[in-house]
Amino acid sequence: MDCIFCKIIAGEIPSTKVYEDDMVLAFRDINPAAPEHIVIVPKNHMESANDITEENIKYVTAIWQVIPKIAKELGFAENGYRVINNCGEDGGQTVPHLHFHLLGGRKFTDF
Ligand code: AMP
Ligand code: ZN
Repeated sequence: MDCIFCKIIAGEIPSTKVYEDDMVLAFRDINPAAPEHIVIVPKNHMESANDITEENIKYVTAIWQVIPKIAKELGFAENGYRVINNCGEDGGQTVPHLHFHLLGGRKFTDF
């Protein structure tokens, strides 16, 4: 499958991993929008939030279990952080594999 994030999961494209388990991979964004910018992906391919089902919601649960762990590990949990999911064209999604942006290390004043 021609999916950048599936290739990262398969190790075919290099990434700077910050967390991995059997369901979730987290790696540093190649074009960071904050001092800490982590992309968190489910290890099974689904295009966007529109494809979340009762069957695969466990991957989203797993991602949310991992988010505070990564924030604590990287030392910005206490100060706070922002989590973003871009869905589809109007949402600004550029990579069609569900992912969450974990942003920290600065204050976000805009919405
Ligand atoms: P989105 O615009 O929400 O689809 O986010 C896709 C994100 O993936 C962007 O922030 C990109 O900078 C990031 N990205 C694209 N390719 C790579 C890559 N090879 N390694 C790390 N991050 C990437
Ligand atoms: Zn994929």
